[in-house]
Amino acid sequence: MIQAKGYAAQNKDTELAPWSFERRELKPHDVQFDILYCGVCHSDLHQIRDEWGGSIFPMVPGHEIVGRVVKVGDQVKKFKVGDLAGTGCLVDSCRVCANCREGLEQYCTNGHTQTYNSLEQDKKTPTYGGYSNTIVVNEDFVLHISEKLDLAAVAPLLCAGITTWSPLKYWKVGKGHKVGVLGLGGLGHMAVKFAVAFGAEVTVLSTSPKKEADAKKLGAHKFVVTSDAEQLKPVTGYFDFILDTVSAEHDLNLYLSLLKASGTHICVGAPPTPAAVEYFSFIVGRKSLAGSMIGGLPETQEMLDYCAEHNIVSDIELIDMKDIYKAYDRMLKGDVRYRFVIDMATL
Ligand code: NAP
Ligand code: ZN
Ligand code: ZN
Repeated sequence: MIQAKGYAAQNKDTELAPWSFERRELKPHDVQFDILYCGVCHSDLHQIRDEWGGSIFPMVPGHEIVGRVVKVGDQVKKFKVGDLAGTGCLVDSCRVCANCREGLEQYCTNGHTQTYNSLEQDKKTPTYGGYSNTIVVNEDFVLHISEKLDLAAVAPLLCAGITTWSPLKYWKVGKGHKVGVLGLGGLGHMAVKFAVAFGAEVTVLSTSPKKEADAKKLGAHKFVVTSDAEQLKPVTGYFDFILDTVSAEHDLNLYLSLLKASGTHICVGAPPTPAAVEYFSFIVGRKSLAGSMIGGLPETQEMLDYCAEHNIVSDIELIDMKDIYKAYDRMLKGDVRYRFVIDMATL
């Protein structure tokens, strides 16, 4: 076994703390890479606090992982020692169901294996994530990372990037569309960058008036403070799409009213509490309420390649591992600008 160290939560009520654990020895198709940077996703916080239920402890969070390959199994074809490598939210899936065959491993009908808080395909070995020094992943679930971009700022593309890229691509969002991005945090700021790059007119819908200048810098055309009824008036019945990245309870009926007829509200944010949606909020106007989860492996590589070509990365604050709770506290206050990334050299 390979000795690894990381930060783990031992149960939902304790804080993350240093923890030593074992990674598997490399199988023929495995790649081992040392982790240089790991992004901090709001999902890390939901899961260490067991807000979605079913959390597996001890838990090493982290699914926005980039590093350099230190060892490869003897059948590995895609990577060699010294290559940059990345892993997002997925480390395995059944490979044979209809969704896996289509490159939609995130919707594996036999249960995909997530990078942490999950079980390997043997359905009994727990997985541990990227708040750690090294990781072993089957090469099919390791992404190629360009040497061209700032590596720390690439890390969040592995979750925040692909989670917003995938629905924008699926719904063919682009020129001629009016898009609202609800919540300007880690996912939201990537949604703005991609929707702008695809040619849409982008409005940030935010609870934080202080973020207006940043939203414009990110490329947004408009900024609306959602608690201000006057600001909401001109965008009522306005949007073709709203991409909802909010992490806490919010009133979907209000946002459905901002869609034009036949518009689509896409939830990627995953608050722990159920939404109370009035039927007439979407019956009137033939509106769609939809959802989307991360993205499959082929589209994740496509997104990373696009970002390398178009020079797109996340706006980040690099933190030391020991400061993770300062980051979580700010995240809970909506004060993320716009993704915390852990420098794993500080582990
Ligand atoms: P984040 O960086 O904390 O951003 C969330 C943003 O939502 C905040 O910055 C804030 O933006 C807004 N917000 C927070 N509380 C709010 C409230 N009570 N009412 C209205 N707006 C509020 O989080 P993230 O990492 O982007 O993740 C966002 C959500 O997506 C989380 O629930 C996460 O678990 C989920 N997620 C889902 C997937 C998926 O596959 N579907 C993947 C990754 C993450 P403003 O200040 O602009 O209002
Ligand atoms: Zn995430
Ligand atoms: Zn499958």
